Amino acid sequence: MKVLKSGDKVPASGIYRVTHSTPHIAEPREMYVEGSRLPKCELCPGGVLYRLESPCVPIAIPAVVELKARFADSARRRSFPDEQNV
Ligand SMILES: [Zn+2]
Repeated sequence: MKVLKSGDKVPASGIYRVTHSTPHIAEPREMYVEGSRLPKCELCPGGVLYRLESPCVPIAIPAVVELKARFADSARRRSFPDEQNV
């Protein structure tokens, strides 16, 4: 697995595992979008390492939002059952 560092260009959108050179934070997972730059950490003069953990497709995000909207819609209908008979 290729290791990237702060300042590098993000090669692929996805969740990256972030390893700080100073252990001031447990290895967090952050999402970065392809083409953006990996950020530096002000607390780590030795830099930060990034490893792609799971690539993801940004298109999947609106699908989840739509699904939640449908659930909210069906919940509203259940609370007003009389509307079904009109
Ligand atoms: Zn840091």
